[in-house]
Amino acid sequence: MKAGIPVNQPLLDGNERMYLDECIETGWISSEGPFVKRFEESFAAKVGSRFGIAVCNGSAALDVAVVALGIGPGDEVIMPTFTIISCAAAVVRAGARPVLVDVDPLTWNMDVARLEDLVTERTRAIMVVHIFGLPVDMDPVIELARRKGIRIIEDAAQAHGQTYRGRPCGAMGDIGTFSFYPNKHVTTGEGGMLTTDDPELADRCRSLRNLCFKPEQRFVHDELGWNYRMTNLQAAVGVAQLERLDEFLARKRRMGARYQSLLADLPEVRLPLPATDYAANAYWVFGVVLDDSVGFDASEAMARLAARGIGSRPFFWPMHEQPVFRKRGLFSGQQLPHAERIARRGFYLPSGLALSEQQIDDCAGALRQILQ
Ligand SMILES: *Cc1c(COP(=O)(O)O)cnc(C)c1O
Repeated sequence: MKAGIPVNQPLLDGNERMYLDECIETGWISSEGPFVKRFEESFAAKVGSRFGIAVCNGSAALDVAVVALGIGPGDEVIMPTFTIISCAAAVVRAGARPVLVDVDPLTWNMDVARLEDLVTERTRAIMVVHIFGLPVDMDPVIELARRKGIRIIEDAAQAHGQTYRGRPCGAMGDIGTFSFYPNKHVTTGEGGMLTTDDPELADRCRSLRNLCFKPEQRFVHDELGWNYRMTNLQAAVGVAQLERLDEFLARKRRMGARYQSLLADLPEVRLPLPATDYAANAYWVFGVVLDDSVGFDASEAMARLAARGIGSRPFFWPMHEQPVFRKRGLFSGQQLPHAERIARRGFYLPSGLALSEQQIDDCAGALRQILQ
């Protein structure tokens, strides 16, 4: 077996080391250090929001977003079934109920045409999740939310710097959330961010991430928060990464275009849409879905790729099929067939920023071989 190609490798060859040195030399390593504020301000500016609130990961950002909006027992939040568990977990932990929407089979995003039928008197928010680098079709969501008085949480963890009809992802809803896990367009190792234009919501987010200390009386608490703070070390890496976001996005788009041209003639797989009428794909990852004519599923395809030294990852497993939620009596009997199909037939190829053109060619070649 040749030296393998990992599914993700980040690029850390900008100012990361210099800024980390500065943290060590000054002794500022906690969340009180100056890079945190600098990262919050520069990130918010980059994504077109007034406020950025840094947290320790993207899942924590979702927890904070749900509670900051006052969502709790008796409330419903409409969200895609095809997403990471963090989205539904935040809602369930807050005591509210996720209401799930199937995917559009071409964009793999929440099918927004189905939203209106799911709105009830209990609906408090729609949680949109931009999937794999293509945004959700936001205009119908925003129109519906305004008409019904519903809030929007926008999970842009896979969409740093991406735009919808020219508007930045993460700044279209009441609250946006981001992750800086190493496979995201900007990484801090672990990390996350909330974005909002609303000063009161920003204050609530800041309080919730920091144990809800009372500003005027430390160690006295009116509410329960979390310690979800980001360290100065993480923020130092984030500032360096953010300096290169435009370059990273262009690089991901070139990588996606190369995969597209190498795989376009393969009838055995459906490729991501290169663009819709509202956005060009930013290719957070390059996903493929096996055609019905292929006699095996994604797990077999991934095993065959692994045997050739190529890393890959399955698509998300739908929320309505999660044992943890079924045990709690949620989503019983629910069927959302498009998400069920892509969960079984879909996987993604190596897509990290450090991937070379030669490696992309090798991955595409290996995919071609295993489908023969
Ligand atoms: C990565 C991701 C998260 C979670 O972020 P973590 O930093 O890993 O906790 C949440 N939502 C989406 C859509 C993601 O892709």
